[in-house]
Amino acid sequence: MSRVLIVEDEEHLAAGLKLNLEAEGHAAEVEENGAVALERLVRADPDGSRFDVVLLDVMLPGLDGFEVVRRLRAARQFVPVMLLTARSSTDDVLHGFEAGADDYLPKPFDLPILLARVEGLLRRRRWLRGDEADGLEQELDEYRVAGRCIDFRHQVVRGGDGAADQPLTVMEATLLGYLVRHEGETVSRKTLLEEVWGVRQDTDTRTVDNFVARLRRYIEPEPARPRHLLTVRGVGYRFAGPPEGDS
Ligand code: CA
Repeated sequence: MSRVLIVEDEEHLAAGLKLNLEAEGHAAEVEENGAVALERLVRADPDGSRFDVVLLDVMLPGLDGFEVVRRLRAARQFVPVMLLTARSSTDDVLHGFEAGADDYLPKPFDLPILLARVEGLLRRRRWLRGDEADGLEQELDEYRVAGRCIDFRHQVVRGGDGAADQPLTVMEATLLGYLVRHEGETVSRKTLLEEVWGVRQDTDTRTVDNFVARLRRYIEPEPARPRHLLTVRGVGYRFAGPPEGDS
């Protein structure tokens, strides 16, 4: 059973989500105020073990959803977050990802789609933690590149000129793992959206660019001149491992 926190101030919507998540076998709790939800997630649950996923509305009393997820990540709490946004403009979506959200769904949404996306986040989290194979093969526990060690199991990048460990969100770790496993192959943005996010039409491909820009900051000594997370113009991205003899 997974535990879901629903942060939503529209009472009927929150109640409907709770009912349906419970019908799917999850435990669900509702919080209607952004500031109170943040307090609950950070102070009462510093290691992020109480909830497995957070559904976070953007327009909320107290603090808006963008600010909640930004402060959550600043507090180094990395529970998977799906933003529910009534405003589906691309800028809002990118703003959400930049703040540290893992996924988003524009309102109004179809319930089966929401439930499928929640399952997707839960499955990726279990997969990264090695809790179950679930049809996905996790071949990688660790990978060393540019003086850093990417620890997929614990979702963290260690090392890099004495820098502090950089925790990864579920989707950052999943995307990085996918590119590393396909080392040397050019992968299109569309393929990444399908394989990593599990979405087909409704996500802007700039989502991928936004995540890659973040990952470069974590693993590239010079993020503006990447040597490992390479852009393939007009197509997508290619991961290049360390040169022979290097580690
Ligand atoms: Ca709202």
